[in-house]
Amino acid sequence: MSKYKIEHDIDACIGCGACISMCPDNWEMSNEGKAIPKKAELDEIGCNEEAKDSCPVDCIKIEETS
Ligand code: SF4
Repeated sequence: MSKYKIEHDIDACIGCGACISMCPDNWEMSNEGKAIPKKAELDEIGCNEEAKDSCPVDCIKIEETS
């Protein structure tokens, strides 16, 4: 089981790209102009914490699952 789960409220996302510039390893822009995580379940949180902190509308949550 993964240790972290990323929850991204795509309806709230304004597509500013801040999370992608902070964490290009795991965030990319969708065709609809919204950010999406490449992987939502992770063992290492890595730069996703910075991605979460950079979001101006606070639509990224990180849940510890173990
Ligand atoms: S920082 Fe937040 S609002 Fe901006 S693209 Fe990423 S998830 Fe969307």
